[in-house]
Amino acid sequence: METVDSLYVHAPFCSRRCYYCDFAVKVGSSSDSDLWSRAIAGELQAIHEEQVFRISSSLKTLYVGGGTPSLLSDDSMVKLAGIVGIERLRRKDLEWTCEANPESFDKDKASAWIRAGVNRISLGLQTFQGPSLRWMGRLHGVKQSHEAVKIAREVGFSNVSVDVIIGLPPSLKRDLRKDFEELLSLEVDHVSLYGLTVENGTPLGRAVLEGKQDIIPDSQYREEYLFAVDWLESHGYRSYEISNFAQPGKKSKHNANYWSGKPYLGLGNGAHSYLYPIRRWNIRNWDGYCKKALEHSLPLENQENIDNEEHRLEYLWLGLRTKTGLRVGDFTVGVQERFASWTRDGLAVERDGNICLTPKGWLIMDHLTLELEEQLTDT
Ligand code: SF4
Repeated sequence: METVDSLYVHAPFCSRRCYYCDFAVKVGSSSDSDLWSRAIAGELQAIHEEQVFRISSSLKTLYVGGGTPSLLSDDSMVKLAGIVGIERLRRKDLEWTCEANPESFDKDKASAWIRAGVNRISLGLQTFQGPSLRWMGRLHGVKQSHEAVKIAREVGFSNVSVDVIIGLPPSLKRDLRKDFEELLSLEVDHVSLYGLTVENGTPLGRAVLEGKQDIIPDSQYREEYLFAVDWLESHGYRSYEISNFAQPGKKSKHNANYWSGKPYLGLGNGAHSYLYPIRRWNIRNWDGYCKKALEHSLPLENQENIDNEEHRLEYLWLGLRTKTGLRVGDFTVGVQERFASWTRDGLAVERDGNICLTPKGWLIMDHLTLELEEQLTDT
């Protein structure tokens, strides 16, 4: 039976909710690290008893995301290693990532994480412009972003990733070029690019509905995305997926696992798991999740079985979002003609027998995926 060697653990705590955020977070001035550890351990026990998702004896990736994992107490990662099983974390090439926000990432925490075995940091920096950070509701300033990268390096992290946001409202007058120049000075190993999305139910979503907040026009978003890709690529970062850029050897193995359609297990409130044909997700609310997990019951919100059609759509969508693309020879002549039309329009290139979207193509990836799916359904 197939085992899972990629594990995601959700740490939901945030000091306050950012203006645009609709993630599964628990807002409060402090995090209950002990409760978190016990809940994760309880869920894991239920998973072991169920025997559907079997965790490999040797994990390839462990990713602690949030929320704000850096709000957890310093010893939380050592405890997590014990819960997951130290013997499962012995692989030499294990990638263990922890997300952190600059305001809650200090030297003690960074050192404790290194000692626990964390070897990759993902910092939520977003922008280097004070007014934009304040508008987003972030709690850190520009100086703290620099400090966080410095701390990560000083304690010995050789794999540092940062999140950068694009698509902020024009009224903020964010200078994107200046942001990217500053980003370059940090000499990080990996950059994840996020487009601001307006979600219903967030303060931003409400403000937009009420006409109190401007949003970026499509043409400007397009310009920002193409600028960012071009800038990063011309400064040594290889784009390997629609929104991820890495120095040589520093691609995220955890995310690559998602994109290749391999199984993964998610622990924590709102976390998703996948083991074909099963896809399921946990209770989003932290208190509801905890209640179940502490009873050692599966804290599931829902589960579905993916049918063939959905599986194919997902395969296309995941393939097109990566630089590797899709194998041309796997498709009919009719579909190959469509690939050729994408190439003529500058939306894709053919490389080593694969069709790979260009940044221009990535901007309309959902549309291209559906176009492809429709053609496959018709043939
Ligand atoms: S720090 Fe991240 S997870 Fe927390 S509220 Fe802000 S955007 Fe959401």
